[in-house]
Amino acid sequence: MTAPVDAIVIGAGVIGSGVALELARAGRNVVCLERLGGAGYGSTSSSSAVIRYTYSTAAGVAMAWEGMHIWRDWANHLGLPEGTPLAEFKQTGMLTIFSEGVDEALFLPRYHEVGIPHEVLTADEIEARFPAIDAGRFGPPTRLDDEAFWAEPDTKLPSACFDSEAGFISDPMLAAQNLAEAAQAAGATFRYSTEVTAIRRSDGRVAGVDLADGSSIDSPVVVNVAGPHSFAINTMAGVAESMSVVPKPMRREVFIAPAPPESDWDNTGIMFGDIDFGVYARPERGGNVLIGGVEPDCDPLEWIDDPDEASDVVDQDEFELHVLRTARRLPGMGVPPQKRGVVGVYDASPDWTPIYDRSDLDGFYMAIGSSGNQFKNAPIAGQCMAELIAAVEDGHDHDADPFIVTGKHTGLEIDLGTFTRNRTLDGAGPSNVLG
Ligand SMILES: Cc1cc2nc3c(=O)[nH]c(=O)nc-3n(C[C@H](O)[C@H](O)[C@H](O)COP(=O)(O)OP(=O)(O)OC[C@H]3O[C@@H](n4cnc5c(N)ncnc54)[C@H](O)[C@@H]3O)c2cc1C
Repeated sequence: MTAPVDAIVIGAGVIGSGVALELARAGRNVVCLERLGGAGYGSTSSSSAVIRYTYSTAAGVAMAWEGMHIWRDWANHLGLPEGTPLAEFKQTGMLTIFSEGVDEALFLPRYHEVGIPHEVLTADEIEARFPAIDAGRFGPPTRLDDEAFWAEPDTKLPSACFDSEAGFISDPMLAAQNLAEAAQAAGATFRYSTEVTAIRRSDGRVAGVDLADGSSIDSPVVVNVAGPHSFAINTMAGVAESMSVVPKPMRREVFIAPAPPESDWDNTGIMFGDIDFGVYARPERGGNVLIGGVEPDCDPLEWIDDPDEASDVVDQDEFELHVLRTARRLPGMGVPPQKRGVVGVYDASPDWTPIYDRSDLDGFYMAIGSSGNQFKNAPIAGQCMAELIAAVEDGHDHDADPFIVTGKHTGLEIDLGTFTRNRTLDGAGPSNVLG
């Protein structure tokens, strides 16, 4: 038996490392256990790491906006020695495009409440400002075997929303490693190549974990931040069946293709979230565009049972589909014969919203169901979990009276009731990765 600790964090992805950092800064003796060889090697490593604020819930927008302030102040947030390589926040701006115009955007009223700078642009304004972009109205999204895919648009987009403060993180794995290093500087221990095989209970609450090497660690607090393996860990804890929201692994691919050659996309490129075409895209180093899907109805979802069994081979047909969709929005773009991309696994909730919550087992918490959209929130999720754990361990009944966290940078309130495991799934919530 290893010496007992105050808190165990399972998983050293970007969120697990963020949780370990904030627990350590709150004075807890923390150990973070990671079955792979380093921080950020799991689903974090394939993240597109887009930082945007277009969420449909007030807590989602508040969290992302607070998170942006942390990314912008990354070096100070971490407090690591001068010269430590740090992940960079590239604020390119982002255009959010709907077939019907931004009036239908759930996030827009929140933007007004919070004061997030944005501009609503007409199609002519989009093309004047971003000449590489075709502002035709192509949607709704279709697949290549549908004749409608190839039709020329006869109208233009009614409008789109441009966020100058949106951007992406240059190196998502490095961001996780930055958080892990900062956590270690604050006193946390990280143990890599260390797999949790069982959650231990005693007297009706969590008591610690068992490890694959046969040893155990005692702790009154265990936090499941195992990404796509969260369901397996919840099953070990015996809490998987008692939640109304059950995240499951979903295989996803992102693709890389050359940007329009004349566009100087590395320096002038913007990101776009294109519901009209069913894709999102951002500049990728080396004059490229990184492309992902936003789950239009015509695209099948690839739910899988075991994240370790996900094929890591990029599908040629999906590559062509996504690159061609993007190339119609960015007409000068190349469509290379050679597929290029990355495979990742989402820990996807049915409503594309994360769970930041306690569980029905006292002392066992979870930061899971990140649904392909919570990289941006990792640092603030750490603060939310550390404050939630302190409150609940102190006797606060979070289920009856949802705990509220106040952002240190923005003063915005983040109602953690939005992220409860027991929320109602009425089908009215978000239906894609944009949350
Ligand atoms: C393709 C893709 C694109 C994305 N794009 C974006 C984006 O643009 N913007 C955005 O905000 N978010 C995005 N996301 C989501 C974001 O990357 C994730 O929400 C985030 O990285 C999850 O971090 P995590 O720490 O929860 O999980 P992970 O990084 O998966 O970490 C979990 C860790 O737990 C470890 N683990 C699992 N089981 C055990 C065990 N039994 N014992 C010990 N360790 C264990 C794993 O090895 C893993 O390292 C994307 C995700 C993917 C896959």
